[in-house]
Amino acid sequence: MSEGGCFCGDIRYEIDDGDYVVANCYCTMCRRTSGAPVVTWAVVPVANFRYVKGEPKQLASSDRASRDFCAACGTPLACRIHEKPDEIDITTSTLDDAEAYVPKYSAHTDTKFAWLHALEP
Ligand SMILES: [Zn+2]
Ligand SMILES: [Zn+2]
Repeated sequence: MSEGGCFCGDIRYEIDDGDYVVANCYCTMCRRTSGAPVVTWAVVPVANFRYVKGEPKQLASSDRASRDFCAACGTPLACRIHEKPDEIDITTSTLDDAEAYVPKYSAHTDTKFAWLHALEP
């Protein structure tokens, strides 16, 4: 099992062990909601994910998806895509052991900053 949470500690969550798709997203919505040039996500079945402390707020970031974040510190925690109700995407940088979730895919590279490739292998 993996554990994670927001910056201030108000919200904590657990993910059951599994072989999950992990991807970097370079879309403009991830950028704006995180304040970072890239967000790494793990795609987890909702049955394998649970909040164990606190309740996040939801942001309707588009008509296709909503995002969970901590109302106290603002940390983005999860994204729910309406047409995939059995899945929840988790921001892997909020995991206590984020290094264990290695991204193998990229999404929305069309909006990736041109300078970012220089920082990646
Ligand atoms: Zn917080
Ligand atoms: Zn994105």
